[in-house]
Amino acid sequence: MPIFEYKCNKCGKDFEKLVFGSQAVKCPKCDSGDVRKKFSTFGMSGVQNSGSSGCGSCSSGSCSTCH
Ligand SMILES: [Zn+2]
Repeated sequence: MPIFEYKCNKCGKDFEKLVFGSQAVKCPKCDSGDVRKKFSTFGMSGVQNSGSSGCGSCSSGSCSTCH
């Protein structure tokens, strides 16, 4: 679910918004389109450490061989 956090460059308000496709985002407070995307609220699950795909107790790239 694409929920993003934005900050309005005009009035400084932080807000979250569901964005579908290339929908334009406007500040809910001052209705300005001059907003900046911060980061995705949902996107942390499973993508914590992209540098290693091992299970943590082994150095293998896949855990098919360590159990
Ligand atoms: Zn604003």
